[in-house]
Amino acid sequence: MLNIVLFGPPGAGKGTQSQKLIDRYHLVHISTGDVFREHTRMGTELGKKAMGYINNGILVPDEITIGMLKGVIDANQRAQGFIFDGFPRTVAQAEALDRFMAENHTAVHSVVALAVPEEEVRNRLKIRKNEEHRPDDEEDKVNRRINEYFTKTIHVLPFYQSQERLITVDGTGEIDTIFNKITAAIDSTALEN
Ligand code: AMP
Repeated sequence: MLNIVLFGPPGAGKGTQSQKLIDRYHLVHISTGDVFREHTRMGTELGKKAMGYINNGILVPDEITIGMLKGVIDANQRAQGFIFDGFPRTVAQAEALDRFMAENHTAVHSVVALAVPEEEVRNRLKIRKNEEHRPDDEEDKVNRRINEYFTKTIHVLPFYQSQERLITVDGTGEIDTIFNKITAAIDSTALEN
């Protein structure tokens, strides 16, 4: 199995790069944001619980998010591996992910952090707002999401760094150039495992 965490602030390009990584490594893509949006569209109980947080640009509480993620992993027992996109966003989530992987006799092999300066992230989200019409790409919601990233999610980096599992990739420039750097990083760590 090959399990990858793609990490970065909102607008770092996690979704774009995930699509390319799926083709390369044939992994199951789990974007917790996409899963939440799908539940919200379908009007499930989970969707109703999560909607208020998402539309306001606030992280969905850990107990809801972690439970949801476990459900998706359990539903994909035959996967050759996973790309986690937008998860973990807190240290508690990172710890839970390690537990779930261990229960499945596997591990998180590569954690790739896409580094993009805040100014560029804001510009990209402005462009995306016009293309995708996501309610949480409105300026006040973007401010909250960036704030959530710098107050809660950023702590996940030292968690992985202290275990020497973190690889930082420059997330600015051409999509294909970034992709090549990510795959080089994944291939080098995957070879060690
Ligand atoms: P994303 O599409 O990854 O930008 O996620 C959109 C929104 O879904 C976030 O702003 C959060 O409200 C929620 N969300 C997605 N993933 C998580 C997570 N791992 N933990 C908490 N909330 C999340």
